[in-house]
Amino acid sequence: MTSAAPIIGVTGGIASGKSTVAAMFAELGIPWVDADLVARDIVAPGEPALDAIVARYGNSLLDAHGELQRRALRDIIFADDNEREWLESVTHPRIRQRLHERLETIRQGAAPYGLLVSPLLFETDQVSLVDRRLVIDVPETLQVARTQARDEVSETQAHAILAAQMPRQERLALADDVIENHGDMTALKAQVAKLDAGYRQLFDGTHQEHSL
Ligand code: ADP
Repeated sequence: MTSAAPIIGVTGGIASGKSTVAAMFAELGIPWVDADLVARDIVAPGEPALDAIVARYGNSLLDAHGELQRRALRDIIFADDNEREWLESVTHPRIRQRLHERLETIRQGAAPYGLLVSPLLFETDQVSLVDRRLVIDVPETLQVARTQARDEVSETQAHAILAAQMPRQERLALADDVIENHGDMTALKAQVAKLDAGYRQLFDGTHQEHSL
């Protein structure tokens, strides 16, 4: 019997390339869990976290389909730290539990390793769910440009989003591995392929930890 497959935590600032990198690993047969999607799943209709949110703020937060209007909720917690703390106390443990379940499926599966892709890997206790940390690093000017292009926000808004996130150097200091995403897609793909080969060797079927 082989031991469980390790999980690599993939993180980076806004528009650093997390989704793009995850899709490239997926093409190489590596399964992944997206923390953003799980954060949405746990407030879907019928979920206890949504019931708690509606009990506190009322039905006006729901749209005609009973779905949470996330923007309205963001407005409430943006204006009030106590409400933000309350919301996090309701959502974070559930996100963590759901992530744990999804990652456990990967750990018991046939893939040599899996990914947890999360913008808040280091800002939450999600980091304790992973065995290794991969940071996607990108110069801020490029990050602002890619955010603007993808999300249709102004340069000022893009800078404001960056300023609210963990500083680049702090994130890098927590990395075991780094992808430099300042080149084109071909350069990015080459780095993913090299890391994948390294991880496969590192976790060579026995899932033992060696140094890369
Ligand atoms: P994240 O998931 O970290 O927010 P994405 O993977 O969505 O970032 O990438 C942000 C944007 O930048 C997307 O529009 C993506 O297509 C683009 N992008 C990512 N990497 C590159 C690259 N190496 N060259 C050009 N565009 C890129």
